[in-house]
Amino acid sequence: MSGTVVLKRKRTRPVLQYHPWIFSGAIERIEGEVADGDVVEVRDAGRNWLARGTLNRRSQITVRLLTWQQDEPVDRAFWRRRLERAIAARQALALGGSLRPSQPATTACRLVHAESDYLPGLIVDRYGEWLVAQFLTLGVERWKDELVGLLVGLVDGVRGVYERSDVEVRAKEGLEQCTGLLWGEEPPELVEILEHGHRFLVDVRRGHKTGFYLDQRENRARLPAFCDGAEMLDAFSYTGGFGVCAAAGGASQVILVESSAPALALARRNFAINDFGRRSVECVEGDVFGVLRGYRAQGRRFDVVVLDPPKFARSAREVKRAVRAYKDVNLLAFQLLRPGGVLFTFSCSGAVSTDLFQKIVFGAAVDAGREAQIIGYLAQGTDHPVALTFPEGAYLKGLICRVW
Ligand code: SAH
Repeated sequence: MSGTVVLKRKRTRPVLQYHPWIFSGAIERIEGEVADGDVVEVRDAGRNWLARGTLNRRSQITVRLLTWQQDEPVDRAFWRRRLERAIAARQALALGGSLRPSQPATTACRLVHAESDYLPGLIVDRYGEWLVAQFLTLGVERWKDELVGLLVGLVDGVRGVYERSDVEVRAKEGLEQCTGLLWGEEPPELVEILEHGHRFLVDVRRGHKTGFYLDQRENRARLPAFCDGAEMLDAFSYTGGFGVCAAAGGASQVILVESSAPALALARRNFAINDFGRRSVECVEGDVFGVLRGYRAQGRRFDVVVLDPPKFARSAREVKRAVRAYKDVNLLAFQLLRPGGVLFTFSCSGAVSTDLFQKIVFGAAVDAGREAQIIGYLAQGTDHPVALTFPEGAYLKGLICRVW
């Protein structure tokens, strides 16, 4: 017998609209002997069946909904169907399926994007022959063995599955952080991938997120068109994703600014393994705000600037402070760009809307006394979908601006 979660009157609307979360405040009572992590039935106050999901009383998000079809049990076949669908969508994009020799240019992508792929709490990224997974909720933690078994059956050519559940959100679910091999062979110290034909080394054990910012892949592809002969500044470079694309586009000089020494060390290697001839790359370890102020004082100027900062607002409460930080760094970028130069500017803060972000960039241009035009709107890549029922899944936004 599974347990039942009965909702309060007037708190059913999100469930009826297929939103995957039920907050603790919407719950009238929980019936039956049910443990956290178990699958529960969700009913309205009139006891009408609404949906089915996993329970975790320790989390504010007390139920993560999985299906709205009463005759669809949550079993191995259920998870298999969901995973198959997510993986098939990437194959349709020529990503992440079998690594077809005809399409060798990109060998890394996100295969499963949690709620946005109707698999709450589960992230799976593919780096060539290796899968790296994050189990963010108790609901998927419980199904870990089945999910890993299904993944290796569904994705061709997988040699190992590595876990990177070393994320703070696990604490909200009452879970410890954990990492390590889940299946198959240990991945090498550095996994080599191709993105748009460029070689990158990825540290799947210690790198940020699962090792690489896959969400920027399609945005990085937009960069080379602006870089022929350019002096390019890659601010918040991590391992040089944008910088490498700029060099490939013919940039005469690339400067990376990044506060993490290990990320910058890997960036150097990423430049070395791609054959850019005598193009010059300079790696600057430091704080972007300070380094850019220094460049401004020295009168140093650039043709192309990329600003890809970390998430300045982790929640709605931090938006005000984040706005100031985005404004400051965009102001510096506008001041450093030559007339006719191009700015790629991003925010990955879900709490900062696309509209607000555009307003911040506008304010920065005004304060810099520069005219600027938007010549491109950017977002997270196609392998990081946004379910219409889950707008919270949209987090990355960016603008390409021409600056006069
Ligand atoms: N553009 C990168 C991803 C950037 S993620 C890519 O395409 O792969 C943001 C990066 O900013 C992280 O690597 C983080 O270490 C770095 N960072 C955070 N705060 C910083 C600061 N104040 N100055 C310099 N780098 C910073």
